[in-house]
Amino acid sequence: MLAELHGAVFFEKKEEQRMNIKEIIYQHRRDFSALMECEGCGNQKKLKGYDDRNYHDNVIPNIKCLDCGKTRNDLGVKSEPTPTKYPNWMQV
Ligand SMILES: [Zn+2]
Repeated sequence: MLAELHGAVFFEKKEEQRMNIKEIIYQHRRDFSALMECEGCGNQKKLKGYDDRNYHDNVIPNIKCLDCGKTRNDLGVKSEPTPTKYPNWMQV
């Protein structure tokens, strides 16, 4: 079971499909606008977000794609956490 899990993670990393931030368009302190890409259908959309751990780890995986209605969680995507620009403890 554990081996399968590791295999899946490895496979996804190799494919480099992540509904994630494709490009940060703008960032002021922790507020950002970014271009997101759905790894289900490839749809891209602009998103305003907040650059902290909670947002990257809990909010983004539950954002539904406007095209296919899937979230990263629906797609079972597990990827490395997106780094924040500033550490969580830092007041910016
Ligand atoms: Zn989609």
